[in-house]
Amino acid sequence: MHVKTLILGGGLTGLSTAYHLEKLGQTDYLVLEKERQAGGLCRSVYKNGFTFDCSGHLLHLHTPQGKKIVRELLGTNLRRMPRRAFIYTGHSQVPFPFQAHLYALPPDVRQACVDGLLAIRQAPKTAPKNFEQWCLRAFGKGIYNAFMRPYNTKLWGRAPRELTTEWCTPFIPTPSMQEIKQSARQKSTKKWGYNSFFYYPKTGGCGALVTSLTTQISHLKTNTPVTQIDLTKKTVRAGGKTFTYDVLVNTLPLPVFLRLLKNAPALTALASKLSAQPVTVYQVALRGRPRPFSWIYCPDEKDPFYRVGLQSGFSPNNAPKGTYSVYVELPGRVRPTPAKERQISRALLQKGIISTYDEKLDSFWQYLPYAYVVYDTFRTRTVFRALQSLESYHCFCAGRYGAWEYSFMESSLLQGKSFAKKLYNEVL
Ligand SMILES: Cc1cc2nc3c(=O)[nH]c(=O)nc-3n(C[C@H](O)[C@H](O)[C@H](O)COP(=O)(O)OP(=O)(O)OC[C@H]3O[C@@H](n4cnc5c(N)ncnc54)[C@H](O)[C@@H]3O)c2cc1C
Repeated sequence: MHVKTLILGGGLTGLSTAYHLEKLGQTDYLVLEKERQAGGLCRSVYKNGFTFDCSGHLLHLHTPQGKKIVRELLGTNLRRMPRRAFIYTGHSQVPFPFQAHLYALPPDVRQACVDGLLAIRQAPKTAPKNFEQWCLRAFGKGIYNAFMRPYNTKLWGRAPRELTTEWCTPFIPTPSMQEIKQSARQKSTKKWGYNSFFYYPKTGGCGALVTSLTTQISHLKTNTPVTQIDLTKKTVRAGGKTFTYDVLVNTLPLPVFLRLLKNAPALTALASKLSAQPVTVYQVALRGRPRPFSWIYCPDEKDPFYRVGLQSGFSPNNAPKGTYSVYVELPGRVRPTPAKERQISRALLQKGIISTYDEKLDSFWQYLPYAYVVYDTFRTRTVFRALQSLESYHCFCAGRYGAWEYSFMESSLLQGKSFAKKLYNEVL
């Protein structure tokens, strides 16, 4: 079978590319997806009246173009919500972001955070070489030791000095030194960060986006895992069949894609330079009344999870009346055992996130093998080399995993649109 555009992966990026090609009148394409259902990480699971996303999946819409696509796809099925996020550390419950709410800390920790700020003035003015230096220069040693180091070491599974600084700016709020100091004395109502409010579908979870996209595109093959790619012959083996193409769009995780290449040892070798931090998710449905929160960061080493979110808080349609649901995110690959479930429940109870009066109705595990692209010293030059070389074969990589980057659903939707336009205008 021959198509002009072959799209590998039916997650949000692949589906958005297909959707926008169709809008441009280009119907000679095919999306190949290995799972029974398309959607990738944006899929929702619907079970006994509950809607579970793949951990938390909230829409952070920062561009008019992103908002426009989401409105096209969801119409009025969208609500806007304020963030209620906290950091639970020791016995403190600190509003997010930690560095702008020092007043919520015990006096000794608060003082150490303020003292740490003084040393910033003496720090060299050269650009920080790694994430540890970046944190120390932005927040000082006290905040680094109390939150930034333990939280990020837990989340990324490596020391902050092993990470680069390229990814931080959009994701980590940086109050001024004056604002940090002031936050030790008094509460502030200033809204911080890219996610101080967010959007979420009223019904269907974030999978509502997938449902809308899949009903508007014509050429999607699910249950069709890609097993081999020949860039020279422009062929792809998938689901026991061979497909030929003019242009290839890859949204599979870049190292997976590079390992599927036939007779391209130099490109395949690049895969070993790309690292990811997996995430294991424990989803729980309970009968009872939840505390009001959006999500809680848990940096303490003794807690098995790094973040817990209230899935049912994002929409009243995510859980039946009188019940609620939480997603618990654990760093790395965690074996789902009854002992681990008990450890998680104990920690949730001890933190007051769930109550002893609540009745557990359901629970299940999810494993996300490539969840966080690790920005180590190899990442950027390896991705640049791979993507540049692949383009010379008319192969374009897109999305959080195809382009191997730290990005969100809005960017998947936008990249799909810009790739469709690029293919339409320049390539096809
Ligand atoms: C823990 C976590 C929380 C997140 N929270 C948010 C959030 O709150 N808000 C937000 O905007 N974004 C969030 N994201 C990011 C968001 O999930 C991604 O940006 C987006 O879903 C990426 O879509 P994609 O299509 O690029 O990749 P994917 O969703 O990974 O899609 C890739 C597709 O390729 C398929 N595939 C893989 N291998 C093969 C093969 N061999 N053959 C055929 N198909 C294959 C997969 O099955 C999948 O369907 C989060 C991500 C994680 C990990």
